[in-house]
Amino acid sequence: MLSGEMFDRKSAHRFRDILKAVLSVMRTAIALAVIMPGITAMAVAQDLDLLIKGGHVIDPKNNRNEVLDVGIADGKIAVVAPNVPASRAQKVVDASGLYVTPGLIDLHVHIFNGTDPEGGYSNGFSSVPPDPFSFRAGVTTVVDAGSAGWKNFNQFVAQTVKHSRTRVLAFLNIVGSGMSGIHEQNVEDMNPKMTALVARRYADLIVGIKTAHFNGGWEAVDKAVEAGRLAELPVMVDFGGSNPPLPLEALFFEHLRPGDIYTHAYAHFPGGSREAVVEDSGELRAFVPKAQERGIVFDVGHGGGSFRYSAAMPATKAGFWPNTISTDLHIGSMNAGMKDMANVMSKMLVLGMPLEDVIRASTWTPAQVIHRPELGNLDVGAEADVAVFNLREDDFGYVDSDGNMWPGSQKLEAELTLRAGRVVWDLNGIASPRWSESGNEQAGL
Ligand SMILES: [Zn+2]
Repeated sequence: MLSGEMFDRKSAHRFRDILKAVLSVMRTAIALAVIMPGITAMAVAQDLDLLIKGGHVIDPKNNRNEVLDVGIADGKIAVVAPNVPASRAQKVVDASGLYVTPGLIDLHVHIFNGTDPEGGYSNGFSSVPPDPFSFRAGVTTVVDAGSAGWKNFNQFVAQTVKHSRTRVLAFLNIVGSGMSGIHEQNVEDMNPKMTALVARRYADLIVGIKTAHFNGGWEAVDKAVEAGRLAELPVMVDFGGSNPPLPLEALFFEHLRPGDIYTHAYAHFPGGSREAVVEDSGELRAFVPKAQERGIVFDVGHGGGSFRYSAAMPATKAGFWPNTISTDLHIGSMNAGMKDMANVMSKMLVLGMPLEDVIRASTWTPAQVIHRPELGNLDVGAEADVAVFNLREDDFGYVDSDGNMWPGSQKLEAELTLRAGRVVWDLNGIASPRWSESGNEQAGL
């Protein structure tokens, strides 16, 4: 019994100790239950820097074409999903009624002044700096189309790349001196080995080889392709002139490789020294769709003289659409019919290209063409280059490079552009705090 009583007393003590411990744990649990939601809310509230809410996302790489929220943290895409709670973000942008797309890639621009004021059509003072023209049109990446060659690419880096917030990439001209007038005709200055060597040295910036404006035989194209083969990069061709004109069919099927780019897709030179995708009469050449099937990339490259309705109307009516949309930005094009990337995209939209295809041709396709699959999409983890567009409905007019107008009822207008998560263009202040007499938040732009 005694031992039994002892046992019972011991048990009672132990029971009391256990009860105390249980109560203590319960008290802690209750306290935590009260505090936890606050802690969770605080943690969640800080996980997004910016939330673009309620916009219609078009992200062709990921087959997204629906209303979704896009959350950004640390300069990267953090979430793309429906109904992301506004409480998770420090700043919320209402994008309802707007289109949200990856930041645009303009595959063909001229942004290198060089040092020769008498320099040619593009390298010289016909070029423009990228930042004043890119963000306001939704563009976050530009690709200079051969303004520099291997001899002056370091100058291009010092002059343009280092001073631009726009992501700058480049096609390296097969001409060592780049696109500087008379040098473009100098076959002696076309060195595939040196071009490929410099392309590899600047692999982070150089995404292809360019040949342009060459008047003569196949030398420029073939040397550019040779450099492209050595550097394992695509070639962009601005097909030059010849008398009689070189056959375009031979360019597409005998000289270029699948993945090479034919820019100025809707240029037209009736009776001139250069064949176009349409006959002089305007009829689409039968081999052109076959060349596109073969993998030749057709790029708009609108420019000051390379987009004519006499080619674009019949070609698009025959079902021939570009793979990529680009501007050929320089001072001769931006105040004429071309204007900017959003205007060229709107022009294609008005000609009947579906909106999703217009966005694809300005984002995911050019990213693939230049072998930069990390660009042109809204993958979670991708650098947050984002464009937000208003698709306006009104009476608009679109001018081609002949100065002819075609009316349209739609126009894409860039409302908001983000580069690596930072607001770099905000047309109507949708990402900016409203001014108030009683005090203002920091805009943080
Ligand atoms: Zn050009």
